[in-house]
Amino acid sequence: MKPSLEASHAIPDFVTQAMPEDDRYWVPQADKVWFRPLLLNTVNGEWVNLLKVARSGVFTRHRHPAPVHGYVIKGSWRYLEHDWVATEGTYVFEPPGEIHTLVVDETEEEMITLFHVCGALVYYDDDNQPIGHDDVHTKIEMCKAHFEEVGLGADAVLQFIR
Ligand code: FE
Repeated sequence: MKPSLEASHAIPDFVTQAMPEDDRYWVPQADKVWFRPLLLNTVNGEWVNLLKVARSGVFTRHRHPAPVHGYVIKGSWRYLEHDWVATEGTYVFEPPGEIHTLVVDETEEEMITLFHVCGALVYYDDDNQPIGHDDVHTKIEMCKAHFEEVGLGADAVLQFIR
């Protein structure tokens, strides 16, 4: 007998243009920093988003307790702690335990990178004291507040949640 491949409890797929046609889907994260949610996974606590940075400078110093995968779509960036530069088309694997400080150099107008964050970002000050964090739930709350404010409605976040 032929085995069944039916997956009657599979959750729905989700296919979208990664670059949103509607700029309101760019959620402000910090000064001239936005993220565009793609998948907000409340079962595994992970998320996939585009990160857009439209200024140069030193950004957050953070640590990942779980892996991060990145793919640079536009521009470039680097981490203060490493001597490599993530240029357009680069894939980056950030192992669990990695602590680093994001830098976008002055030559760049804008960088956009797709990040799959498999856990959280814990932010640290220069004395290695934790000063905050982001996880899938803080991301969801930021989306809800922003989508409500720009007229999409807080429920617009639901399309990204699994
Ligand atoms: Fe990182």
